[in-house]
Amino acid sequence: MKSQARVVVIGGGIAGCSTLYHLTQEGWSDVVLVERDELTSGTTWHSAAQVTNFGMSQVMIGLKSHSIKLYKELAADPEYPVGYNFGDGGIRLANTQAHMDGYAHFTSLAKGMGVEFEVLDAQECARRHPLISTENLMGGLWDPSDGHIDPAQLCQALARRARAAGAEVYRFTSVTDLTQHADDSWTVHTDKGDIRAEIVVNACGYRVNEVGAMMGVEHPVASMEHQYFITEDMPGVMEAGHRIPLLRCPISDYYSRQEKNGLLVGFYEQECKTWGMDGIDPKFSNDLCPDDLDRVMDVLEGAIARMPALAEVGMKQVVNGPITYTIDGTPLVGPIPGKRNAFCIIGLRAGLGEGGGHGWLLAQQIVHGEACYDTWALDPRRFTGHATQELTSLYAIQDYQNEFRFHLPHEHRPAGRPAKTTPLTPILEQAGAHFTVVNGWERSDYFKPTPDFVEDYGYSYTKVHELVAAEVARVQNHVALAEVNGFNRIEITGPGARDWLDYMICSRVPRKIGKVGLGYLLNDYGNVKAEATIANLPDGRIWYGSAAAAEFHDMDWLSKHLPKDGSVTLRSLTNDHTILVLAGPKSRAVLSACARGDWSAAGFPWLSVREARIGHAPAIVMSVSFSGELAYEIHLPNSALFAAYSALMRAGAAHDIGHFGARAVDSMRMEKGYLHWKSDLITEFDPYETGLDRFVCRDKDFLGKAALMARGDKKRRQLRMLEIDATHASPQPSDSLYAGGRLIGSVTSADWGYRTGKNIAYAFMQPDIVEGITVDIIGKPYAARLLNGPVYDPDNSRVKS
Ligand SMILES: Cc1cc2nc3c(=O)[nH]c(=O)nc-3n(C[C@H](O)[C@H](O)[C@H](O)COP(=O)(O)OP(=O)(O)OC[C@H]3O[C@@H](n4cnc5c(N)ncnc54)[C@H](O)[C@@H]3O)c2cc1C
Repeated sequence: MKSQARVVVIGGGIAGCSTLYHLTQEGWSDVVLVERDELTSGTTWHSAAQVTNFGMSQVMIGLKSHSIKLYKELAADPEYPVGYNFGDGGIRLANTQAHMDGYAHFTSLAKGMGVEFEVLDAQECARRHPLISTENLMGGLWDPSDGHIDPAQLCQALARRARAAGAEVYRFTSVTDLTQHADDSWTVHTDKGDIRAEIVVNACGYRVNEVGAMMGVEHPVASMEHQYFITEDMPGVMEAGHRIPLLRCPISDYYSRQEKNGLLVGFYEQECKTWGMDGIDPKFSNDLCPDDLDRVMDVLEGAIARMPALAEVGMKQVVNGPITYTIDGTPLVGPIPGKRNAFCIIGLRAGLGEGGGHGWLLAQQIVHGEACYDTWALDPRRFTGHATQELTSLYAIQDYQNEFRFHLPHEHRPAGRPAKTTPLTPILEQAGAHFTVVNGWERSDYFKPTPDFVEDYGYSYTKVHELVAAEVARVQNHVALAEVNGFNRIEITGPGARDWLDYMICSRVPRKIGKVGLGYLLNDYGNVKAEATIANLPDGRIWYGSAAAAEFHDMDWLSKHLPKDGSVTLRSLTNDHTILVLAGPKSRAVLSACARGDWSAAGFPWLSVREARIGHAPAIVMSVSFSGELAYEIHLPNSALFAAYSALMRAGAAHDIGHFGARAVDSMRMEKGYLHWKSDLITEFDPYETGLDRFVCRDKDFLGKAALMARGDKKRRQLRMLEIDATHASPQPSDSLYAGGRLIGSVTSADWGYRTGKNIAYAFMQPDIVEGITVDIIGKPYAARLLNGPVYDPDNSRVKS
């Protein structure tokens, strides 16, 4: 066994084997894989191993397409052909209009990645799948590439190719501990000796947290027991004349595929069980959990109702094994939060279908720092301190129970809530707040007219449309208050703070104390990495503020680039502070009534910051506005939040103050042309392509400048603002755009603009297209026109008033 390697991958299931293979593909051959038993002895060996192209984000579709392309190549390898039934086709069923609308959206989203799905009616479903009835069926979504693969052969083939490229695989070798050194390298302790490694990768499946604990990390991954059975031969299968398509059913929570001359049917029962929460027997390897078919009776009945032939056939095998879930159901593939030179590829619940793609994206991140797609949807740093295993298990149960019932737009299910709250949460709830969840925080989304109001989630505008319109009108004409909790806030101090931060952003740190500005951070490739509000405060303090979800991501990026001489210090204030946004033309009057000082346009102009007291509560007030109205961001320590809120509400009573929520904010920011991190600001495009030209200071040095300048004027895509001729619904993120019958781009954000009466979308598009544009909304094309910048108060006269 080697005593030194550039990368040690721990775990020899699909995740580890795919990572090892792709590292060699990226040109790194000094890489090893360590597996405590035989390859595939965790979950992989007993997987149903279905391989679909279906995904609910473009990155998932892209990585699944990579899996399929790779698996086809491996199946065609004459030296070691892998058993792969590609192209049996698969149907996802639906019996509600909302679900059918979702399928229309996913079809449009997939087109942007070059993948074709088809929305079918019930009769066509039955024509393609000879065993199903159309009872209580509206239709389905067809994936022509659906199929399944031999999981053990797949992993052996990947390991074989990796070995041929120089990698080494050590089987029957357990990692027992991990030690990190001052230079960020690792010693991987195994029962066969130590390996010194530059980088380690946790690919340990359901044992993820055993290895996580060795580096002091709790990963938000929990395992569920999951069962399928395989039937005896079925006449309907043998007589079909073609392979039976795969089936996934959100009505009764099961899936099926052909297995030899019978079917394999798997279940997501309501009475489901977590697994391994209190530790896993070290001897559990190549092993299964005890069968428990009684548990799946509820969903088995549904499967039989859909496929009556199942009632006529015996079972020949039952498989019950552990399957991992993360806190949002999507795997964690990327850098481990708070650690250097440590990555993970964990929480794979459809690891055979996705594993080829996940290993590809992880290897790119390890070798190049970024992947070909913005991988935020997979990034382990998207969760923060609240993401314990206990909380994850609650989400895992809920996700398992709703396996094929995707969230509808704006829907957040109840498990594990509330996780993060502020002293105002119960007060806002009393005021009627309907909460959404942002990085675990309960954030007011909109305010309900009556306590029993229930939202009708769907892809078209719902009755919440009118409520948001009223909140926007109040902000536009009077004054209203919104709580923004969990906003990421880092205090940057030290003698080198200003110059260092100025290098980290392509714009400038405000020079004068008391000024606020926007900063854009680029990566080494000159693409957009992060966005921050930067406030220059007295006493050498700089406040760096960014999206709530960016808490771990931005801290990681900033601390990685800190000067080694200790001249800059970072301190997170995220969990100690909350923002109250006071917005509307009467906001100055309200603020002046409860805070001493000159708040006039001359005394405290737009983009100013100062310390103040709201009543007696200490605050930092910034005159910035995401709504486009005169507004103040009031930053408060949580201990003073209620006091400040009470003072503002009392002062606001004379001006008919009300509340507004995140949906009103989103609508207003769209009218102003303001962007959202990880919707419109992604690592695939640079600031020019993102329309941030005015924030690029070419006359100074900054991180990513060389790559940005080297790229020249050639634009891959351009972020555009569009007005759409539709009044019933907005497009969803990733819906496709066309011109002249050609695909020209994808939507990043969209919303109705209540102040302008416009249906607005942002989209990354081919830069040369200016007319003849259509945008998909729920599967139908609608005409769209390019807009030249903000449609509401383009001169900013209202924010400056
Ligand atoms: C019943 C069932 C059906 C499924 N059906 C499908 C399906 O149809 N399609 C699909 O895509 N997915 C399916 N899945 C999920 C899929 O099988 C998993 O997502 C995938 O196998 C996970 O692979 P992995 O490499 O992450 O984990 P594993 O396969 O568990 O591999 C982890 C490896 O790490 C090793 N390891 C752990 N600790 C150490 C250590 N300390 N030192 C060294 N090695 C260590 C283990 O021995 C193991 O081999 C199914 C799962 C189940 C349970």
